[in-house]
Amino acid sequence: MTPDLLRDLPILEPGHVWLAGAGPGDPANLTLLALAGLRQADVVIHDALVSAEILGFAAPDAERIDAGKRGGKPSTAQADITGTLIRLAREGRRVLRLKGGDPYVFGRGGEEALALAKAGIPFRIVPGLTAGLAGLAAAGIPATMRKFNQAIILATGHGADRSEGVDWQALARTGQPIVIYMAMTNLDSITRKLIEGGLPRDTPSAIVMAASTANQRVMISTLGRLVADALADGFGSPAIVVIGNIVAIRDQLQQGDIRP
Ligand code: SAH
Repeated sequence: MTPDLLRDLPILEPGHVWLAGAGPGDPANLTLLALAGLRQADVVIHDALVSAEILGFAAPDAERIDAGKRGGKPSTAQADITGTLIRLAREGRRVLRLKGGDPYVFGRGGEEALALAKAGIPFRIVPGLTAGLAGLAAAGIPATMRKFNQAIILATGHGADRSEGVDWQALARTGQPIVIYMAMTNLDSITRKLIEGGLPRDTPSAIVMAASTANQRVMISTLGRLVADALADGFGSPAIVVIGNIVAIRDQLQQGDIRP
């Protein structure tokens, strides 16, 4: 008999939570396991970045909870989300917690998993394509290229102005490409610190906005011009910023690439 990947996937049991990643946007980037979770869940708790198209794979009678909203306030408190996950699991529901990208990359999935572990709730991590890598591919930028880079740095721009933020000057000194999530708010100070750390102002840089969605936009610039160009072109969240020589290869790869 021909194997049926979807039929043979694990069962989402009552009282269990699957902490899943939905990828960067395009439903075609969902993993089979995430799709299996969507089909089996009787409650889906999702973030704002998860599209209606992807949520459309859930069972018609599944309850959907938007964790990105709370009575007009911008986002639900993290404690509320974990509390809700634990309560629903204890009620014997099949719970899918669906996040953008990969649940364990800059998405507080680790915190949620810890809370579930402490509460004794059985859970499974369902990996997803993270925006920092899938977004690069969608923009035609290879994450690594022999002779260009031997490492790639994934960083968050959130908290860049706080003392616990990333040491951008140290990252600059590695000379390796840097992919920055949640970079738009602090882009000015991040780019300044990278230049102070020794990265040339003409380092090739790109912003990939709404990667893999119908609204995807790619801007190619340089480290020194990035903020001004982003403002002029109206680039905003969700976007990843990539700084480094790999951006320069994109031009040569355009030919033959069937993506728009
Ligand atoms: N867990 C997610 C990241 C969550 S943090 C992942 O692995 O991708 C949210 C940030 O992810 C956004 O601010 C943006 O920097 C990035 N992001 C998510 N989806 C994106 C998309 N479609 N295009 C560009 N950036 C995206």
